[in-house]
This record gives sequence, structure tokens and C-alpha cells, in this order.
Amino acid sequence: MAGPRLELPILQNWSCHNCGGCCRQHLIEVTEAEKQRILDQKWTAQDGIHGPVLEWHAGPPWRKRYRLAHQQDGGCVFLDDRGLCRIHAKFGESAKPLACRIYPYAFHPAGRSFVVSLRYSCPSVVGNRGTPVSQQSSALKRLAEAVIPAGAEKIPPPRLTADDRVDWPDFLAFVEALDHTLADPTAPLVVRLVRAVTWTTLVGQSAFEKLRGSRIRELIGLLMEAARVDLPALPQQIDQPSPMGRLYFRTLVAQYARKDTVTDLSGGLWGRWRLFRAILTFTRGTGDVPPLQERFRSVPFASLEKPFGPLEPEADEILTRYFRVKIQGLHFCGRAYYDVPFAEGFHSLALMLPVTLWLARWLAVGDGRERLSIDDISTALAVADHHHGYSPALGQAAARSRVRSLAETMDLTRLCLWYSQ
Ligand code: SF4
Repeated sequence: MAGPRLELPILQNWSCHNCGGCCRQHLIEVTEAEKQRILDQKWTAQDGIHGPVLEWHAGPPWRKRYRLAHQQDGGCVFLDDRGLCRIHAKFGESAKPLACRIYPYAFHPAGRSFVVSLRYSCPSVVGNRGTPVSQQSSALKRLAEAVIPAGAEKIPPPRLTADDRVDWPDFLAFVEALDHTLADPTAPLVVRLVRAVTWTTLVGQSAFEKLRGSRIRELIGLLMEAARVDLPALPQQIDQPSPMGRLYFRTLVAQYARKDTVTDLSGGLWGRWRLFRAILTFTRGTGDVPPLQERFRSVPFASLEKPFGPLEPEADEILTRYFRVKIQGLHFCGRAYYDVPFAEGFHSLALMLPVTLWLARWLAVGDGRERLSIDDISTALAVADHHHGYSPALGQAAARSRVRSLAETMDLTRLCLWYSQ
């Protein structure tokens, strides 16, 4: 059998560098078969395992769902002192739960083929470190066969707008146009991103009804050109986002700044109360930013609103690669992103620019600096992308309606420009 046809990102390198970060920050739910396999592996104190390897974490007593147990510091029970996986070391890579084998990859249907995206919560993905993904097709094919269900090629494309769905070739024409907008080498990232926000907002407001094929491509071309004419270069004057836009933004950024490891989630009532108070402070936006995780220090909200200078070329490269990998990998709408339509999903993705830059400013100010370093941007991107498409809070109606409102009022554009200066 030939297996699924995969389209791999050409811009991205990745190999695991055994930092162990993913084994500290994710909850790994296991299937019944994986649970049995792990129990059959018969882990003992001689292997360095003290206590149960699995925990009941969801479902009623008659249909329990299990996840891998965690150590006191939040790391997976199988993570050893050198940051290596004990299952991998003793039984080989294929003996690990599928979720561990797949990370940081994600496979998404794209008509007759499947596209591959990557999660930027992994520092090696952000740093573009390792073997080009385009050269890893055999290993990825094996993973794809394990993860892609039978009949997946019949999955319809994500909705284009709330009310419209086109077929795969037309849908992919929109995605290709988006990637083309982001690839323009003549403009800085923020200009390209704002142009894309502008034309996708028009897509979101349009009714496509009988428009199909070449007529759709013609329309996309016109929308892209209008967006380019509307913003030929960085504007001289950059307006602050509206008070409502800033409020919505802070509420969303608080979700991206959270930490949700087992240790953080097991803080009980006191932990939830502290989180609630922190979110209220984010809503007010005055005084000091409450540090939602250890790496962030308490700094005044106002200190994050001053200009930090334009993005360095290296930062532009990292963020451009991020957006293009997510777009090419369809990692921003449909099943890959809370089942939202194309335009809304792209607006959530575009919001990652101000979110990342805001978090990077927070790291820089906490360190006594007024300029962003590449480390600030890389760390901020990894922190934010951990949640993007995976934190249930971002898929809830309230968060989605805030993103839609930011796009409709043009505050999304203002946020992108404001935090890029
Ligand atoms: S099983 Fe291995 S790879 Fe999976 S989270 Fe645990 S230590 Fe990491």
C-alpha cells in the first residue's frame, strides 16, 4: 500500500535535542492498548520508577481514561535525570505512546493529500535546528500511517466563512494566496501580515454563493491587490488600539501566558483563586503584570507599551517561518483549530504576532532591557504556541468572539502595528 500522500514544509528543520521540555509540559492520555502495553512492560524501582506509571484523569469509574503519571516536578514518570525517555531507552521508539512519537508534528487533511505542520512549543522547532523536514519523508510516512484514520481523504475542507464552504481546490487557492502574501520579500513581516488580515477580513464578510474556480482566483487576486495598495509600506503614524481592543487583547494574552503542567493544574482551590485574581488584573491592565509563570517577572503594564524598535531580520525570519509553516500546514482553521472557518482562524493566527511580541517585551523588561533579544522572541513564541489550537479556553465562544471583534474593529491591525514598533 502506498500510504497517505504527504506535503512537507520546505522551510523547516527539526530533530529532537532531548531537552525533555515536551515531557514536562504535556499531559499524555493513553489508549487502552497503550495502557496495556505500558503495564506489560513491568516497570520497577530498579528502572528508576517509584510508584504508579498511569493515573485515572478523566471519565466515569466504568469508563476511566488514563494518562501517564508525573513526577513531583511535573515531568513524566518515564523521564530520567538526563532528560531521556525510559520507554524509548529500554524498548525503542515504537513502544512509546503515539502522542509522544508524533510531537512536535501535526498532520492535517488537504484533499487528496495531507499536510504536515509543527508545534512551535518545541524550542528546536523555533530554532530551526536539525534535519530539514523535507528529508524526513520515510519516518513521517510511518507516523502518518499510525495517526491518519481510514477514509480521512474524504474529510471536507474547513468552512471558508461562517456560512460558506467551497471544495478543496478552491479552498487551497485561498491558502496558497495567504502563503504568497506572507512570502513577499519586499515588505517587513508586519506589513505582509496586516495585508493578509485586510483581505481575509473581506473574505470573511463576503458571500461566495456561485463563485467557483477561476472566478474565485480572480477575486482573490483583486482582494490581495487592494490590500497591498491600502498598505504599501509601514505607516509613519501608528495608532494605539482602542481601549476595548486593548482590554480584549489583555484577556487573550493572559490565556497564552499561563502554564498548564500537571504541577500548575494541581494547585487546588488556592491555585484557581490566584489564577482568577491574575486574570482580573490583566482585565484592569493597571499596576504590575502578575507573573503567570516563573519565567515572567512582575513589571508595570505601562512599561510594555513603549516602542521597542523594529524587528531584527532574524526575528522577522523566525516569525515569518512560523506563520508560513502554520499556513502551509493548515494549522489555523477547521479540525486543526477548534473547527473555526478560514478567515476567523487566520485572524487568530495573526494575533500571535502581538501576543508573542507582548510576551517578549515582558521577558525583556523583567530582565531590565528595553530592546528585544532573539531569545525573548523565541521563548515568547514557544510559550504562546503551546496554547494556540490546544488550550480549550482559546476555543471557547468568549475567546472566539473577542478575536472576531478585534478583526471587525480593525484593532487586530492596530495591535500588530503597535507591538511591532
Ligand atoms: S513517555 Fe517518554 S516521550 Fe512520552 S512524555 Fe514520557 S518521557 Fe516523554
